[in-house]
Amino acid sequence: KMANETLKAELGNASWKLFHTILARYPETPSEDEQTSLRQYIHLFAQVYPCGDCARHFIKLLKKYPPQVSGRKEAALWGCYVHNKVNEKLKKPEYDCTNILEDYDCGCGDDEKESDF
Ligand code: FAD
Repeated sequence: KMANETLKAELGNASWKLFHTILARYPETPSEDEQTSLRQYIHLFAQVYPCGDCARHFIKLLKKYPPQVSGRKEAALWGCYVHNKVNEKLKKPEYDCTNILEDYDCGCGDDEKESDF
């Protein structure tokens, strides 16, 4: 079995990847329903996150820095900001958020136009 720290890091890595990708694909001009969905998703993500200490810390961060759900750019920059707050706590380098949308391109850009089926 792998060391616990390695497993925790792998979980974090995979979770952040999905987290930032969702934010980078969020609508540019979301409806009220879409804003509610993203806000709830983020709060529930924090509540069910399987590393208890991480979850508790992240819930505190969400209270201090509430999710910005007004649009794609706002949401993605907010996500980058709170991840940097976690990086700071773990003494990891600060990430440059300048190209956050391009950094998390998921290759699903044509979803709205065409289907593979
Ligand atoms: P990660 O932090 O996992 O980042 C993965 C990749 O994302 C990086 O390689 C980089 O390319 C990119 N990246 C880095 N910073 C940013 C940013 N600001 N915006 C966008 N992309 C970025 N671990 C603990 O030990 N204690 C905790 O309290 C803790 N809390 C966590 C809370 C949450 C919600 C999550 C998802 C994870 C948490 N983790 C915690 C795990 C921790 O954040 C890392 O995921 C883990 O330490 C592995 O780090 P890493 O160096 O692989 O990079």
